[in-house]
Amino acid sequence: MECPKCNSTSISKAGTRRGKPAKICKSCGYQFVDKALSVGRPQLAPTQNCPYCGGDNRKRGSDRYSRQRYECKDCKRIFT
Ligand SMILES: [Zn+2]
Ligand SMILES: [Zn+2]
Repeated sequence: MECPKCNSTSISKAGTRRGKPAKICKSCGYQFVDKALSVGRPQLAPTQNCPYCGGDNRKRGSDRYSRQRYECKDCKRIFT
C-alpha cells in the first residue's frame, strides 16, 4: 500500500468515503480510497467525456506522469 501521490508507505486509516475505506498519507496528507479492497475484475479505463464540451474522445497516450491522456474528437482539446 503506497500513497498514489508521493509513493510513501506511511499510510493510516482515515475513516470511510462513500462507504469505502479511506486512507491518508502521513507524508503528504493526501487522502485516497484503498482500491486494493475493491472486489471484482480489473476495471477498464472508464470512458471519459470531454470536460469542455462533453463530447466523445479517444486515447492519446500518456503524459510524463504516465497518466492516460485523451483528445476530444469534437473540440480537439487534450485532457487527462
Ligand atoms: Zn503521499
Ligand atoms: Zn470537447
